[in-house]
Amino acid sequence: VRLVTYRDPTQGTARGGLVTVDDHVVDLAGVLERQQISLREVLEQGLLGDVAARCAGARPVAPLGALTLLPVIPDPSKIVCVGLNYADHAAEVAMPTAKHPVLFLRLPDSQTGHGQPILRPRESDALDFEGELAVVIGRPGRRIHPDSALAHVAGYACYNDASVRDWQMHTHQFTAGKNFPATGAFGPWLLTADEIADPADLKLVVRLNGVIVQQASVAQMLFPIATLISYISTFTPLKAGDVIVTGTPAGIGATRRPPLFMRHGDVISVAIDGLGALTNTVLDEPAITEGAQG
Ligand code: MG
Repeated sequence: VRLVTYRDPTQGTARGGLVTVDDHVVDLAGVLERQQISLREVLEQGLLGDVAARCAGARPVAPLGALTLLPVIPDPSKIVCVGLNYADHAAEVAMPTAKHPVLFLRLPDSQTGHGQPILRPRESDALDFEGELAVVIGRPGRRIHPDSALAHVAGYACYNDASVRDWQMHTHQFTAGKNFPATGAFGPWLLTADEIADPADLKLVVRLNGVIVQQASVAQMLFPIATLISYISTFTPLKAGDVIVTGTPAGIGATRRPPLFMRHGDVISVAIDGLGALTNTVLDEPAITEGAQG
């Protein structure tokens, strides 16, 4: 099934929803007889199996296109991102392919949803795109064996690990350039793992203003999904709702001559087989008073 997080049109809160075959959204709290439930809570409480059955015949709240979508999981306990996980991308940035996965963390409040803006911060003109496959954990675990790793996956989604390149390269730690608000786009929906025969066979296409800028198969990953889950869960327990963003292939804007950074009004789209197309318009961050919340 396809699952989303949407903004309650009246309360403004984040709600978990199921997308029907005719693209309407059924509220998960309603069918689970709760006041409120997030997608993360559905996963934590092991309710994923119940959801599809209970949603059959349920009355939708609205057409998918009429709702404001939030990041698929707006509040994960952790977002672990993988760098340099495609040989062609490592080559274009003149980095050696690593012996172990290159990892960095994103903060939940750096995320944005499908159809919401990606913001270029005032501090940089070097906002770049990175189309990626996101893996959402369903069954928690520590020191997960690669052979059983995929059984811990709840589902998959598109991710745009949009990066502020100058801030990313200020030091040898990527954190600053990967955590500006509204740069990590995540959506439009989570497709549950049971609907994907082989997650290693997915094709990813990124378009900037309709022009293809990245195109790859997930099969090209240097560290495949099972290896990443096993490696990451060795040092940190993976919890339900945690997100692994698996790395971007070649084609980023920073290594082009001239560089192709994203500008105000650009439309950037990350499409993956079965996972839909994650589309965002780039906006310059509005001028705000120093010290105010962005
Ligand atoms: Mg990335």
